[in-house]
Amino acid sequence: MTSRLRLLLIEDSAEDAAAVVSVLAADGYDVAEECVDTPAALADALDRQRWDLAIADYAMPSFSGVSALRLVRERDADLPFIFVSAHHGEEAAVAAMRAGAHDYVLKDSLARLAPSAARELRDATARRERRRAEQRLVHLAHHDALTDLPNRTLLQDRLDQATRVASREGTSIALLVLDLDDFKDVNDALGHHAGDRVLQHVASQIRGTLRDADTVARLGADEFAILLPFTDADGAVPAAQKILQEMGQPVVVERRPLSIRASLGIACFPVHGTTAEVLMQKADNAMYRAKMDGGGVAVYDPLRDRQTHRRLALISDLLTAIEEQQFELEYQPILHLRTGAIAGVEALVRWNHPRHGRVQPADFIDLAEQTGLINPLTSIVLNTAIRDWGVSLGTSPLTVAVNLSPRTLLSPDFPERVADMLAAAAAAPASLTLEITEHMLMSDPARSLESLKRLHAMGVRLTIDDFGTGYSSLSYLRRLPVDELKIDRSFVTGLASGQDEVIVRSTIDLAHNMGLSVVAEGVESEAAQAWLMSMGCDAVQGSFICEPGSAPAMREWIARQHPGTV
Ligand code: C2E
Ligand code: MG
Ligand code: MG
Repeated sequence: MTSRLRLLLIEDSAEDAAAVVSVLAADGYDVAEECVDTPAALADALDRQRWDLAIADYAMPSFSGVSALRLVRERDADLPFIFVSAHHGEEAAVAAMRAGAHDYVLKDSLARLAPSAARELRDATARRERRRAEQRLVHLAHHDALTDLPNRTLLQDRLDQATRVASREGTSIALLVLDLDDFKDVNDALGHHAGDRVLQHVASQIRGTLRDADTVARLGADEFAILLPFTDADGAVPAAQKILQEMGQPVVVERRPLSIRASLGIACFPVHGTTAEVLMQKADNAMYRAKMDGGGVAVYDPLRDRQTHRRLALISDLLTAIEEQQFELEYQPILHLRTGAIAGVEALVRWNHPRHGRVQPADFIDLAEQTGLINPLTSIVLNTAIRDWGVSLGTSPLTVAVNLSPRTLLSPDFPERVADMLAAAAAAPASLTLEITEHMLMSDPARSLESLKRLHAMGVRLTIDDFGTGYSSLSYLRRLPVDELKIDRSFVTGLASGQDEVIVRSTIDLAHNMGLSVVAEGVESEAAQAWLMSMGCDAVQGSFICEPGSAPAMREWIARQHPGTV
C-alpha cells in the first residue's frame, strides 16, 4: 500500500534530495516533495500548504539546518523534522536534537531513514490527536454545548479584558443581557427538543446580526449576553433593536411557526459600572426592567434600579396583604343609556397599604399577576363583591362586574370556584359579570375558551373589557360565548373632541351585528354621553355619571338616584 507523503526537503544538493526521495519511495511512500534552500523559500512553502515530514541538510552554504528548524517550529509545532546530513560530529547531532529535531540520519546510512520517518509520522499523528483533544477540552470549558457560543466563564474573561482596554484608551463598552420572553411556554407546549432548536436558532440569529469583534455568550437557560467593544448606549440601542427585529421573524419549529420575543437590558462601561461584575448586574437589572415594561430594550437607569428594590419589597407586602386582607373594593355604576336605569356596578380593587396608603390597581395588579398572587386576590375580590351585593343579586336586574386577569382564566378549577362562591352566597349566576380582556384570550385561546364556555353555561355573564386595545380577530370573537363589549376608555375620552368617533361607531355597529350589547367606559362629559346615545350605545360608565365609591356609598347613591333598586 502506498501512502501519500507531502515531503518538505531543505537541501541544496539535488543529488542528495533525489537520494532521500528514492529511499522513501522504495519503502512504499508516494512522495510529493518540494525542495528549498533559502529561508524565504522555506517560509513560503510552510505558509502555502501543510506538510507531513521535513527533512533537512544540517549544513548548507546559504542556510543553516538549525535556523531552518527554528523557522519550521515557529509555524508548525508538530511537523516531524529529521536531519539527513554528512557526519559533522557527535556535537552537531546533540545540538540538532536539542533544537527540536526528531532524528539525525547520516547520509552514508540512509537505510535508517525509512524506519525513522515511519516512527516520526506515527508519533506526529498521536501528538496532533492529543493536541486536538486538549483544544477540544479547553473549548468545552469555555463554550456552551448546545449553541457552541462562549459561556459565562469566557464572557467574564473577555469582559475583564475589554474593560482593561477601554479604561486604558478611554473608550466605552456596552454589555447587553437578553432573555427570551415566555420561553417556558415553548418548552411546555412543544417539548424540550423544540426548545433546544429555538435556542440554537436564536444563538445563530444573534451571532449573525453582529460583527466578529463582538462576543455573544449564552449565560444559561434562555439568557444570552452580548459584549460590544467601543460602543456606548447610543450605539448599543440600535444594535439591540436590530437583534429583536431579526428575532421577530417567525421561525418554523416542529412544523409550527413561532415568533420569538425577548427583553434586552443594556449597561455601559464606564457610565454604569467599571467592573465586569457590576456591568453584569446592571445589564441584568435593565433587562428585568425591559421585561416588566412588556419586552423590548431598556438601558440601565439608576432611578429605576431603586424602583426594583421597591418592587421586591412590594411583592412581600402583597403577600402579607393577601394574608391580612388589606384590600377594599370600590364600585362604579353602569347605567342603561336609553332609560337611565341602573344596569350594574363594576368592582374595582384598592389596596390599603399600611405605609404607602391607598394603592391603585395599576400599581399592583401586574405584580400580582407575575407572582401568581392574582388567584388568591381574585378570590378575595369575587367573594367580597358577591357578599357586598349578594342581597340584590338575583332579586334585582343589577349585576356586579368583576375584572379577571389572564392567569385566572387559565386555572382549570376557576369555573368550579365561581360556582361554589355563588352557591355559598345563594346568588344567581346571571347577576355576576366577569370582565375579560382581549389580551387575556390570546395567551392560550383554547384553554380560555374552555373556561369561558363553562362559566357561560353556568349562566355567568361575560364582557370583553378594554375592547379595541388588543388584536383579537372578529372571527375569533364570534366564537366566544360573550354577552357584551366594553369600549376602552381611551376611545371614549377622545369622543368629546370628535376624534375617535369612527372607531366607536363601528365598534357599536359590529357588536350589535354580533348580537352583543355595548358599554362605554370613561364617560367624562355630557357631550360624550350624548354622542354615545346618538350612536346607539347601550350602557355607560364613567366619572360623568359617578366616580367609584365604597359599597355603602354606592348603595346610598343608587337609592337616591334610582329609588327601589337596592
Ligand atoms: P377597567 O376594568 O377598565 O376599569 C375602569 C377604570 O377606569 C377604573 O380604574 C376606573 O376607576 C376608571 N374610570 C372610571 N370612570 C372613568 C372616567 O370617566 N375617566 C377615566 N379616565 N377613567 C375612569 P381603576 O379602578 O384604577 O382600575 C384600573 C384597572 O385595573 C381596571 O381597568 C382593571 O383592568 C384593573 N382592575 C381593577 N380592579 C381589578 C380587580 O379586582 N382584578 C383585576 N384583575 N383587575 C382589576
Ligand atoms: Mg373592567
Ligand atoms: Mg376597561
